[in-house]
Amino acid sequence: MHETMVAESLVTAISAEASKQNAKPVGAKISCGMLNTINDEVLCFAFEAIAKGTLCEGMKLEVEHKPIKGKCKNCKEEFEFELSSPGCPKCSSEDFELLPDAPLLLEEVEFETE
Ligand SMILES: [Zn+2]
Repeated sequence: MHETMVAESLVTAISAEASKQNAKPVGAKISCGMLNTINDEVLCFAFEAIAKGTLCEGMKLEVEHKPIKGKCKNCKEEFEFELSSPGCPKCSSEDFELLPDAPLLLEEVEFETE
């Protein structure tokens, strides 16, 4: 269960940030690449279970999936790869490489404001 590991590390990271700020976290935004096999629902479910009894209990998780990027070998342009139009948007070359998928990132944590 990949998601359980991710959820665990998220709870750890958010808890650390929360105690540093001395505030209660209410939501968090994470992002990952499109090829990442993270399932949002499974991740939220795992997160909820692990967060129970911690500072993170009841938080809302938002997962953003980033598009995969390609780099043109002809003009070096970096672009968002789309299956519907595989090719460089600048020079129309189809000679390009796909860049590594975006890693899973904790983008921001939202804290309760008083
Ligand atoms: Zn190009």
